[in-house]
Amino acid sequence: MFTRPVRCQPASVHEIFAELARTHRLGVDMNVAVPRPAPPRTGADERAAGALLTVDLAAIAFNYRLLRSMAAPAACGAVVKADAYGLGAAMVVPALFGAGCRHFFVAHLDEALAIHRVVPRGAGLYVMHGVFDGGEADCAAHGIVPVSNSPAQLQRWAAQARRSGRRLPAVLQIDTGMARFGFAPADLVRARDQLEPLALTFIMSHLACADTPDHPANIAQRIRFDAARAHLPPAPGTLAASSGIFLGADFHYDLVRPGAALYGIAPNGLPNPLRPVVRLDAKVVQVRHVPAGTPIGYGHTAVTAAPARLATIAVGYADGYLRSGSNHGAAWLGETALPVMGRISMDSIVLDASDLPQGAVEEADMVELIGPHRGVDAVAADAGTIGYEVLTSLGRRYHRRYLEAGTIA
Ligand SMILES: *Cc1c(COP(=O)(O)O)cnc(C)c1O
Repeated sequence: MFTRPVRCQPASVHEIFAELARTHRLGVDMNVAVPRPAPPRTGADERAAGALLTVDLAAIAFNYRLLRSMAAPAACGAVVKADAYGLGAAMVVPALFGAGCRHFFVAHLDEALAIHRVVPRGAGLYVMHGVFDGGEADCAAHGIVPVSNSPAQLQRWAAQARRSGRRLPAVLQIDTGMARFGFAPADLVRARDQLEPLALTFIMSHLACADTPDHPANIAQRIRFDAARAHLPPAPGTLAASSGIFLGADFHYDLVRPGAALYGIAPNGLPNPLRPVVRLDAKVVQVRHVPAGTPIGYGHTAVTAAPARLATIAVGYADGYLRSGSNHGAAWLGETALPVMGRISMDSIVLDASDLPQGAVEEADMVELIGPHRGVDAVAADAGTIGYEVLTSLGRRYHRRYLEAGTIA
């Protein structure tokens, strides 16, 4: 497909921004103050809620700085789609901005419209699913940059630039081997012309197998990315998400786009250098003593082997604590593990508290479901899934507490 590669001399991110300074959100004074978010929606009342979710914003800022230092001299953005992976974008975005982040990515336009007020002018706000009919004016009005994934999306954004009478920033996504989003190589020929009224801010692609460092698809995608860029006007490149950052400098290009790693999720199978961000403590509703041979919960999938002390806690699958974790894993009280017994119900889980001394657990005590003893990735493994799904499933019934400084560990 790529028969005449041209030498690519990408402008630096700063040059591109300077060019756009008068036309769009990007390139405006980067030293604007961090906006004060509205008081967080903290979910349920603390005393009335079944569980307390603690989000450590200082740990997110720490993780951001760690990833940025790994990616330097490339810039480091942040993916805050799905309400910052379930943690609350209205709180997470200002924390990241305060740590120096100037590029924020969401999936849907709706998500961008929900947070554009906490993303200062001066920072980029990108919609990865791109713009659909009727969304162009919203993007232009709020300085939101849609990623163009197809000739139709690029055409739509170019038409908006012509209507606005100004060059709008454009991000072009290329499918380099995931068959999900982006221009096919054959479409790139047209893209050059379509870009005419736009300023190409980033050329983007996404890795399919980056969490497996020696997977041959990683290098194959990088080679296709280079080839595709050679056929486009020079512009900064962005390829790596969290796991891609750990593949090394060849994958960093001009901007990296971590999501999961910011929130403490392990980027690959190696020891995780990131700080945990989330802690979930659940309230004990009832403690009971039962004889050996007592069946527990729906379907009687667990039966006590000996006389047991059981503690029922006020978290269930309606809170995003996945039912596939039934009979797996444990909660913790102090240094004692309390194994999950039987099926996870909609609003409750039964724990085996037999290892605790008499009287050590009572009604209204709080036990750790996610935290230092059992992180997000371990909870996910017990439920047969990945940390991403655990975080983005976190329920609305939790009381939410945000730590500005300090650590939850
Ligand atoms: C979700 C997403 C990211 C962030 O991925 P993580 O693995 O969470 O770091 C980056 N780029 C694209 C295109 C995405 O869809």
